[in-house]
Amino acid sequence: VGINDYTRLNGEHIKDLQKLIGDSNVALDEEKREAYSYDEVARTYWEEDYLAEVVLFPETSAHVSSILKYAYDNYIPVTPRGAGTGLSGGAIPVEGGIVISFEKMNRIIEVDQKNLSITVEPGVVTAEITRAAREVDLFYAGDPCSGDASFIGGNVSENAGGNKVVKYGATGASVMALEVVLADGSVHWFGGKRRKDVTGYDLVHLFVGSEGTLGVITKIILKLVPLPGKVVDLLVPFPDSETAIDFVPRIIIEGKVIPSSIEFIDHNSLILAERYLNNTLPYDDAGAHLIIELEGSDPERLADEYERIGDLCMENGALEVFVADNRTMRDKLWKARKCIAEAIMAFYPRYSLEDIVVPTDKIPELLKGTEMICEKYGLKSPNFGHVGDGNVHVNLLFEEEPANWRQILYAALDDLYKLTYGLGGTLSGEHGIGLKRKKNTPLVLDEKIIEITKKIKSVFDPRNILNPGKIVP
Ligand SMILES: Cc1cc2nc3c(=O)[nH]c(=O)nc-3n(C[C@H](O)[C@H](O)[C@H](O)COP(=O)(O)OP(=O)(O)OC[C@H]3O[C@@H](n4cnc5c(N)ncnc54)[C@H](O)[C@@H]3O)c2cc1C
Repeated sequence: VGINDYTRLNGEHIKDLQKLIGDSNVALDEEKREAYSYDEVARTYWEEDYLAEVVLFPETSAHVSSILKYAYDNYIPVTPRGAGTGLSGGAIPVEGGIVISFEKMNRIIEVDQKNLSITVEPGVVTAEITRAAREVDLFYAGDPCSGDASFIGGNVSENAGGNKVVKYGATGASVMALEVVLADGSVHWFGGKRRKDVTGYDLVHLFVGSEGTLGVITKIILKLVPLPGKVVDLLVPFPDSETAIDFVPRIIIEGKVIPSSIEFIDHNSLILAERYLNNTLPYDDAGAHLIIELEGSDPERLADEYERIGDLCMENGALEVFVADNRTMRDKLWKARKCIAEAIMAFYPRYSLEDIVVPTDKIPELLKGTEMICEKYGLKSPNFGHVGDGNVHVNLLFEEEPANWRQILYAALDDLYKLTYGLGGTLSGEHGIGLKRKKNTPLVLDEKIIEITKKIKSVFDPRNILNPGKIVP
């Protein structure tokens, strides 16, 4: 259906929805609807306003199924929503209609030690999964910087990355199975507690990263791994970003170890973090810092490894190597790394947080090109991120605010995406396309791929009611 063909909700629809899931699970209040109509992309970024017509809080898969069946029969758009920490406008109800919030579906259903898995509902906060696994000496490796707030349903739907991708892969690598409510309200399990499965297409991982456009996830089975016995972080200042980034591949090739994290913080980002936390980190006048995290169960072997990596750092231009081997020091370090996005949001009213990804060896060229784009448009760019996987948070900010700032920002982003694509990269490594980058997908996905994408969408969602207006134009 086209935009104007969707049904607008009236009093009768609301009564029907209240009957289906209970009055207390239906919110009509305008302030609440507004709060559930945006994510963490600054509201000022958008030229238009968006508003859900109703927000629903299902408590069970059966509730979700009845909502979707109703929406399908009545041509009502449905936008699933996690915690709303998204950075691509994925949870914005572009066509109004229903927003489904999963905050009441927040149960940890089972920790299965024998099969090294955990079964959860989509509204469980990511960090709660890590905590539940830790209680039985197991570990959930998904670690987005927003993990204290984001929901696992949102992580799966964005294939969230984060700090441990270099060793464990993104969220999708931990997903074994999903219970999904399809557009017509039918409920299906995809996958199972199986470590291998080539029985047909890998539909589980088609849902991973599909941003709520193909189905609504109502249960998730995730892989767990043994809890690492000991973790050590190295904080390594370098004179400049290039020296730091050139060193990254050597950590693995010459150090002969895959760290659980290799994170990068440039000078501008470090200063922002210090200001935000009212705290200082060593060598804060350095051009860039790396955080290299190593983990293992044998303390002696781990000590050998971090000494070897430390020596390697010094041989490759590091100014110093600081070892954080206790909880307090590690927390301080990671607090600084994890707060940078929040610091930007707090200090700069006009900005864009990006998560472009390039082949790791192209990061120096990406940073140089970004500097030129910033000069051209009068912007500043603190850069940080997951250099171990080529995923850099290049961020464009205005120190001052010209009247036409939005047009300037959009033009600078177009240039940044072209630069990224020219380096063999793409628009998003972890935040997704959502509404924010959908006009740019034709730059990186050719016509045939866009056609295939649309066909897949129409197979799963023939009435185009699931999170319409996202991913491809
Ligand atoms: C300070 C900060 C730091 C961040 N750091 C990281 C990081 O390190 N790594 C990273 O990857 N991201 C990061 N993000 C982005 C964001 O946290 C992730 O994209 C996260 O996965 C979104 O989860 P959410 O629950 O907030 O989802 P939302 O923003 O609510 O939704 C995201 C998408 O998922 C869909 N969705 C949600 N639930 C379901 C469901 N049950 N079924 C189907 N579709 C669903 C929505 O429709 C939407 O398209 C960060 C954000 C902030 C603000």
